[in-house]
Amino acid sequence: MKFHFPRSPKPPEISESDWNNWTWQLRHSLKTQEDFESVFALSADEKAAFQGGKELFNIRTTPYYASLAQDGGSSIRQILMPHKFEIEEGSQQMLDPLGEKRNNPAPRIIHRYSDRALFLVTDICSVYCRFCTRKHFTGQEQAFIKNEEYEKALAYIKSHPGIREVILSGGDPLTISDAQLDRVLSDLRRIDHVEIIRIGSRMPVVCPMRVTDDLVKILKKNKPVFLMSHFNHPNELTAEAAEALEKFVDNGVPVMNQMVLLNGINNHPALIQALNRRLLYLRVKPYYMFQCDPSMGTDHLRTSIEDSLEIQKELWGHLSGLAMPNLSVDIPNGGGKTYLVPNFETKQEGRVRHYLGWDGVEAQYVSPAPEKIKKPDISGFEKEWSDLKNSKR
Ligand code: SF4
Repeated sequence: MKFHFPRSPKPPEISESDWNNWTWQLRHSLKTQEDFESVFALSADEKAAFQGGKELFNIRTTPYYASLAQDGGSSIRQILMPHKFEIEEGSQQMLDPLGEKRNNPAPRIIHRYSDRALFLVTDICSVYCRFCTRKHFTGQEQAFIKNEEYEKALAYIKSHPGIREVILSGGDPLTISDAQLDRVLSDLRRIDHVEIIRIGSRMPVVCPMRVTDDLVKILKKNKPVFLMSHFNHPNELTAEAAEALEKFVDNGVPVMNQMVLLNGINNHPALIQALNRRLLYLRVKPYYMFQCDPSMGTDHLRTSIEDSLEIQKELWGHLSGLAMPNLSVDIPNGGGKTYLVPNFETKQEGRVRHYLGWDGVEAQYVSPAPEKIKKPDISGFEKEWSDLKNSKR
């Protein structure tokens, strides 16, 4: 093995079979100040956060994820541990930074782009990440969607043939039971126009024992299903996490990772390259590196756009394109994603563009004369293209 993935430090009083059982991990989640104090020596600022009452976003972690936040795990600690900064004032603190409530045409459906929709099957997570972008919905103890809402959500997807991709999200869709997940996936598979199903989950990070043989069988049966993981720091890649990721890929479930840049946690190119090289080695494609959304209580966790671009620029040229995630910002209020790309172009003069490469090499790219540019034959694909362009929300 090229990289070392250490096993999580299981407390000796807990049996292997309990520790490696995902339902045990969920049942023994830490939820209160008292629970947290049984595992962590809380600082005064952390204690103050627990007194935040209703102002404070839900608190919860699995014992497994808490075990990674002990000695030397301060980055992970900041992801799971509330801090008094969360309840202090900051810039642009939004309860719904992505404007999802405006794009919510049916219960539990967020339909922002014409060809894909989010289906929020549960609001429960096994860990409430302090940077969460969906604080307006997550953790309200609504659990698995009620039958009536479920049927309405499904009917909405059925009646919109433009929806080719459904993204199961939440909350965390992998906190629901195998039987519930199988029902959702099978119902979606019966809809002719749904081509791709994605599952966005933090479970491979915070509770990798969730990835059982039975789970991957269900995903395989309902293929093509893509798993969108959410690793943010190389220390989250334990032996258990590595085994979970390999189990997905070995069973034909492609895995792509979406990370978020977090102030004082992972905003350094040394950590980004370490995380993404390890993920790629495990056959996980680093997909997005998000600018942290201006969600309530995240002022102290956000980097500046300049800081993020600088990180991306430093990685450019040193890190294989396969391991390089796309740096993106979700435009607040539902503007959609946009890539953030360091600018290497220095000048444009007609058809000549001047570039200064990452290693200081200057060169020009000269485009062919416009009259030489022609369009290819698209026969056989015109209808597919016009259907895609004309899909309506
Ligand atoms: S797992 Fe996802 S939805 Fe749940 S708290 Fe973390 S970021 Fe939010």
